[in-house]
Amino acid sequence: MTAALDIAGIAVSPDHYIGGRRVPSAERFALHSPIDQRLLGEVCEGGATEVDAAITAAARAFPAWSAMTAAERLPYLERFAEEIGKRADDFCQLESNDAGVLLSRMQHGVVPRAMLNIRWFAQHALELQNRAIETEQATHRVRHDPAGIVVIITPWNAPLMLSTWKLGPALAAGNTCVLKPPEWAPLTCSLLADAAHAAGLPPGVFNVVQGSGANTGAKLVADPRIARVSFTGSVPTARAIAQAAGANLVPCSLELGGKSPFIVLEDADLEGAAATAALMYRNAGQVCLAGTRLLVHARIAEAFTAALRANVEKLTVGDPREASTEVGPIIYPRQLERVAGFVERAVAAGATLLWGGARHGFGAQYYQPTLLTNVKQDSEIVQHEVFGPVLTLQTFGSDEEAIALANGTDYGLGGVCYGETEHAAAVAERVRTGFIWVNSFGIRDLAAPFGGIKRSGVGREGGDWSFEFFCDVKDVVLPKKPFQASFSHR
Ligand code: NAD
Repeated sequence: MTAALDIAGIAVSPDHYIGGRRVPSAERFALHSPIDQRLLGEVCEGGATEVDAAITAAARAFPAWSAMTAAERLPYLERFAEEIGKRADDFCQLESNDAGVLLSRMQHGVVPRAMLNIRWFAQHALELQNRAIETEQATHRVRHDPAGIVVIITPWNAPLMLSTWKLGPALAAGNTCVLKPPEWAPLTCSLLADAAHAAGLPPGVFNVVQGSGANTGAKLVADPRIARVSFTGSVPTARAIAQAAGANLVPCSLELGGKSPFIVLEDADLEGAAATAALMYRNAGQVCLAGTRLLVHARIAEAFTAALRANVEKLTVGDPREASTEVGPIIYPRQLERVAGFVERAVAAGATLLWGGARHGFGAQYYQPTLLTNVKQDSEIVQHEVFGPVLTLQTFGSDEEAIALANGTDYGLGGVCYGETEHAAAVAERVRTGFIWVNSFGIRDLAAPFGGIKRSGVGREGGDWSFEFFCDVKDVVLPKKPFQASFSHR
């Protein structure tokens, strides 16, 4: 066991968590804080040995864990959620320090949600049992059997939220799991292993192997012993994962990037729409479901832009650990360069900068909230995900035009539509995305489906959809009359 890292007075293990114990490895990677680039420490990188050990541990744990009923698994998972709650402050500090997520958001949004992710799916699994379809001929007992070993791979912008969103249903369904956290922000997933351990989860039910995607992640998803891959991240990585898992016909759930439209119809509440649009800069725009393409009716564009500007000028850019901060840092230097590059190329191609467009003086990894207009639909800045505090604004003259612009990218994750409720709902229904918010943003419920279409993803998670993915659905057929064997029977 390697000595714990000390992050803001919190002891966090840099080791993997395999088969119920901490396992070090010789390979390490350095972890820096996006806030001020200080070295947080070195974390173990899993290679072939650790990947094999984790999958072996998960395979050993599977028979006993999967044989339990959902009711028998429930107390373990309740305790897991409780243990997360006991260390709520530590989770908040860690993710704020290594991912730059706002501390206030961690406290009020992410940590309560992480607990709910574990609890809600554990409860919901109880309802899955004893489902039956009655027909004249037979009773079809529909079983949701655990699929086996689930590999979970998550990105750096929301490691705790997304890891628990997948772990909750995967474990509740009776699977055993191997989680590979993002190499840029692995610390809350290490603490999650401590919480699982303290909750008494049987060894091997939940394992964490840290490391880079190209090394550790690629080895995990190519292992023929696994039954499912649940991935959240970028499109190029999803392609690599789907290819590797596809070689073994392992189903993948892929939650990917977005370039979501934010439509403001002529009959919208402008002040409300502008206040919501300013939220797109939250987490420095590193939010997959942000509506980053503002599509505004031409007749109200000037008034809307003025209202948005007033909101943006009030935003506090700074240290995510301060309660007043609303916009924090970009995760790592290369990502900042990437964001700046998108803006420079857009301006060179003729876009007009309405505000921002440069690094922010608060620190080396900060970028100003930025708005670009005069952008063409087929331009790079409109077609590609920036994943930074950069929005574009286009105008339209009719609902048809707004819908065409909204649907005119390869992405289809989410969307926002502001307008008179029924008008906005009618437009929203024609936008081709996995979900869309009318006169609101970010309302999520664990019972509802979540996922994207086109390049934004494959499959749905949330509620029953999570269990459809993490289970093998099986039909046990019991005839209602004595069965007469006959070759003419279909
Ligand atoms: P990424 O694709 O670079 O990395 C995501 C994870 O995949 C990391 O853990 C990484 O180590 C791993 N990985 C990389 N290559 C791999 C490989 N060959 N095999 C296995 N694993 C591999 O994404 P990122 O930069 O960490 O995150 C940003 C992206 O995530 C954005 O595109 C964003 O839109 C997306 N995202 C989507 C959602 C959603 O719910 N749809 C939520 C959050 C983020």
